[in-house]
Amino acid sequence: MDCIFCKIIKGEVPSSLLYEDEYMIIIKDISPQADKHYLLIPKRHYQSIVHMSGYDAFVLAKCLRKLGELTEELGLGGGFRIASNVGENGCQSVPHLHFHILGGEKLSEKMG
Ligand code: AMP
Ligand code: ZN
Repeated sequence: MDCIFCKIIKGEVPSSLLYEDEYMIIIKDISPQADKHYLLIPKRHYQSIVHMSGYDAFVLAKCLRKLGELTEELGLGGGFRIASNVGENGCQSVPHLHFHILGGEKLSEKMG
């Protein structure tokens, strides 16, 4: 499958990897939109939460909990925002579920 995030997960495409475990990776976004802009990417390929299985839901909960534990070391101690773009109206450009994590500065109150 020609999926850029699957290739990053397999190590076939380089990335600035910040964290990895059996379920996910966290990398720096190549085109940052905040002082800190990371991507939390579950290793299993599926397009979005619309396509997730019960097992995927379990894994995702573990990923988000781990993110909560990593906030200080990721420089997000002052707070952050999590966003996942879904489908055309959500402007999703990579069809492999991922969460944008934005922080390191005071973010805009507007989200849309
Ligand atoms: P989305 O538009 O929500 O699907 O987000 C995709 C994100 O992936 C964008 O913010 C891109 O900047 C980012 N991105 C695309 N390719 C790479 C890459 N090779 N390494 C890191 N981030 C990437
Ligand atoms: Zn993928």
